[in-house]
Amino acid sequence: MTFHTAFAGYADPSLHSAGLFIGGKWEAGTGGIPVLDPSTGNTIGEVPDAGIDDALRAVDAAEAAAESWRNTPPRERSEILRRWFTLMTERAEELALLISLENGKALADARGEVAYAAEFFRWYAEEAARVSGEFRHTPSGVHNILVDHEPIGVSVLITPWNFPAAMATRKIGPALAAGCTVILKPASETPLTAYAMARLGEEAGVPPGVVNVLTTTNPGPVTAAMLADPRVRKLSFTGSTGVGRILLAEAAKSVVNCSMELGGNAPFVVFDDAELDAALDGAMVAKMRNGGEACTAANRFYVQSGIHDAFVEGLTKRMAALKLGAGYDPETQCGPMITTKAVEKIDRLVAEAKSRGARATTGGEPMAGNGYYYPPTVLENVPTDAALAQEEIFGPVAAVYCFETEDEAIRYANETEYGLAAYVYSRDIMRAMRVGRRIDTGMVGINRGLMSDPAAPFGGTKQSGLGREGGVTGILEFMEPKYFAVEF
Ligand code: NAP
Repeated sequence: MTFHTAFAGYADPSLHSAGLFIGGKWEAGTGGIPVLDPSTGNTIGEVPDAGIDDALRAVDAAEAAAESWRNTPPRERSEILRRWFTLMTERAEELALLISLENGKALADARGEVAYAAEFFRWYAEEAARVSGEFRHTPSGVHNILVDHEPIGVSVLITPWNFPAAMATRKIGPALAAGCTVILKPASETPLTAYAMARLGEEAGVPPGVVNVLTTTNPGPVTAAMLADPRVRKLSFTGSTGVGRILLAEAAKSVVNCSMELGGNAPFVVFDDAELDAALDGAMVAKMRNGGEACTAANRFYVQSGIHDAFVEGLTKRMAALKLGAGYDPETQCGPMITTKAVEKIDRLVAEAKSRGARATTGGEPMAGNGYYYPPTVLENVPTDAALAQEEIFGPVAAVYCFETEDEAIRYANETEYGLAAYVYSRDIMRAMRVGRRIDTGMVGINRGLMSDPAAPFGGTKQSGLGREGGVTGILEFMEPKYFAVEF
């Protein structure tokens, strides 16, 4: 592949050459999916376009490796994952550049992502050796119940473009720790990171066939073919709720076990008694990590009337001061969006809100020139039923709504089909916890703008998903409990 100037004198071709990765072999494949630099729109590389036959060969490879991998002692699986963590950490700067290059996110965000992504390997290296079973007497006291956890089997992993490293490791880590073999299909916009990580996996000693990676322009039929294959027992998907619904229907045909990490529409609730600077710091993280392209991104700022004006003023100052530019430029604080389509969506949502009375205190208009940029924007006086209160903005736009009472804030926060994340700011911890309990989401940040942690269960309620990734339960998403009724 061609290297971008951002890599001059830096790139190690062994990490960045790409191809389908099936059964431990790199294949040139056919066709080509261009990978673009969102800061310019220029092509930076090309990856193969796998078809159904390739996908079924990947299932063959995963199945061939399955028996030996599930019988590999947990300690050995753990050590391989730990080596993978170390290699990612050693190559962190290079991986971060690659992420910035193909995804557009600011280098600081990309560095944060690599550290976060690697931690899933370290965490699951530790968890691999800690899977417990269960022993009980039946209530009658006569019989015995023994519960074991077995690897669920060959797993298909599908990931989005917004965290190309972390969404992959958050699935590969627990799957491998549990004793499963996998086929990873990364997003077409950001496949280079996935292939680079597969290279490091090889170096870490992951046996052939345990991790397979393929890219395709035909994800629907390719995934359907894998799910229809009875050897595939698990689908773990991270992406939009719309595609999640399609995949749940597809998996239903063969009753394949599913974990779904889907879209979000996080409310960020600020009460009058919140510490203003802390709320603004948290707001900037919750809104602007990845330029707003995060499932946990604060999508709706509900601010109580007493602190509303000061909050809007402070947020406007901070947003207006952000430096926009190519992600891999070290000065950049907000990179481009992933595609022109993403910019068009943001523009549509902002225009609709403005046509209904919202005012931009900074930004609010698309930008001319190359690259897929949208400026950091703050909107105030947004009607609570604006389209951007229902749809994921997925960009650097903070929409601020004013509220009076606690009940009102909770009602607004819950007026969505999503239930992934919420944020609450108040000095009164009793109130913050009370409100957090009444907001229907899988995760709540209390006086914190960042909640992602490999040691915590990540996931949503309602149409934000099924199951949890990370934490002590994440490994169980890749295991089946087996009950033995034992007489002795
Ligand atoms: P997406 O359009 O749903 O795509 C996600 C993945 O699914 C990509 O690999 C995509 O492949 C693939 N895909 C698309 N259509 C498919 C089909 N019919 N069958 C099988 N696979 C298919 O989502 P995205 O735009 O990449 O990511 C943004 C979304 O992900 C947002 O909604 C965000 O909230 C969500 N997200 C959720 C979490 C979470 O943990 N809950 C984390 C991150 C992101 P192609 O790229 O080839 O189309």
